[in-house]
Amino acid sequence: MKKCIVCKKKQSFEEFKIKNYYKHRTSTGSSSTCKKCRNERHKINKRSIKREFSARGLYKGINKARYKKTFTREAFIKWHENLENYNCGYCNISYEKYFKKKVYQKYPGLKTWLKFTLDRKDSFKPYTLKNISICCPLCNYVKGFIFNAEDFKKIAKQFIIPLYK
Ligand SMILES: [Zn+2]
Ligand SMILES: [Zn+2]
Repeated sequence: MKKCIVCKKKQSFEEFKIKNYYKHRTSTGSSSTCKKCRNERHKINKRSIKREFSARGLYKGINKARYKKTFTREAFIKWHENLENYNCGYCNISYEKYFKKKVYQKYPGLKTWLKFTLDRKDSFKPYTLKNISICCPLCNYVKGFIFNAEDFKKIAKQFIIPLYK
């Protein structure tokens, strides 16, 4: 018997066995936490990473000296938490649908196809919480510096949204 360091219950050694998968072989080892506690921890980690990842990833994208920001990381995470959804602010495509439909595959040759980023509604103004929008790579590319948010929403409605139909 062995005692789990999390739930403190004594259980058979079988519950502490862990399998490590290497390239071509499997090795077994022993963990200090039981199977049940390990699964529980894994579930929680996965959930928090998923939620945090998008906010963190988006922030990381603009956390560079050359981008003038007027807000802190904490303020940004709050802003992100309060969003109704995490869809593109222009064509309203969701992250899931974007990667399911793979419309971007028709337009090869760009490196940023795989990331939703933060776009400045007005590209000539700095990154403020009022001036940022989540943006899919396709919209980001087409909008560029040319259009402002309001004009581009019309363009997205006419030319980008139909691509997903
Ligand atoms: Zn346990
Ligand atoms: Zn879009």
